[in-house]
Amino acid sequence: MSKEEHLLTVRNLKKHFPIRGGLFGGQIGTVQAVDGVSFTIKHGQTLGLVGESGCGKSTTGMLVLRLLEMTAGQVLFQGQDVGQMKKQELRDFRRHAQIIFQDPYASLNPRMSVGDIIAEPMMLHDIASGIERTKKVEDLLKVVGLGPHHARRYPHEFSGGQRQRIGIARALAVQPKLIVCDEPVSALDVSIQSQILNLLVDLQQELGLAYLFIAHGLNAVKHISDEIGVMYLGKMVELGEGDELILNPLHPYTKTLISAIPQPHPGAKKNRIILQGDVPSPANPPSGCRFHTRCPEQIAICSQEEPEFRQVQSRFVACHLVK
Ligand code: SF4
Repeated sequence: MSKEEHLLTVRNLKKHFPIRGGLFGGQIGTVQAVDGVSFTIKHGQTLGLVGESGCGKSTTGMLVLRLLEMTAGQVLFQGQDVGQMKKQELRDFRRHAQIIFQDPYASLNPRMSVGDIIAEPMMLHDIASGIERTKKVEDLLKVVGLGPHHARRYPHEFSGGQRQRIGIARALAVQPKLIVCDEPVSALDVSIQSQILNLLVDLQQELGLAYLFIAHGLNAVKHISDEIGVMYLGKMVELGEGDELILNPLHPYTKTLISAIPQPHPGAKKNRIILQGDVPSPANPPSGCRFHTRCPEQIAICSQEEPEFRQVQSRFVACHLVK
């Protein structure tokens, strides 16, 4: 495997948050938000990262971009260790690795015009100035399906879908190689969701972008992901090629997520698996396999021994039942 094949390599990533309390505010526990997650993303490809809220997927996105400092592990971007980068290297990295947020309204400064919002990252990274920068803003607005006249307007004048397009234009302004898309369509109407997903796919093909696409369900990621990673309570439980994983899920939790994908035909037969109980707290994860308290297929060993995340043919799975 050539060194250049992977744009991003994440190895055994961990983020543990201390819980403070008691009379003197000392550490009384640890939230294991992300606990040993590994994956790679190739140039121009998409990894979909899915799991329920609180599984650590958004924290993983923040760690990849070093918007949060990791507790342990390694993130390599084009072979360079992101955790070891000094100020200037980190600045260059931030140009090449951008983020799109779930709530486009909260992430756009309401006091800035759309033109200024898109121009700001170009200013920060010394990309173009004066008329050239204005022209680039107009071009970016066109690329995301808006018009040059929108540059003079303010975020509150736009719909949710349009605001997400502005967020995408701002991310594209610095010509990134990787975009972390943190639930970019979850807050949008279903009809608008597919428009934004199609826009992201078109931009990927045109510009050769790689995406880490974070979502809580498989429905949003199934069409756009080359690979899919499934997370549960801070751990990666299954990772593999997207279509294969959807057609033949191996981990019981992945099977549950797949059973929740809506069927295109109203009469189609569907055996939805409903999980019992709530997601346990990452401050006090269950022993053995973290999924055992809700797993419909658990056996005796599951509560005692943690299953290894290991390769099974072309897939990686953490389950005692998968040999
Ligand atoms: Fe279920 Fe056991 Fe597999 Fe965990 S290891 S997913 S509890 S069968």
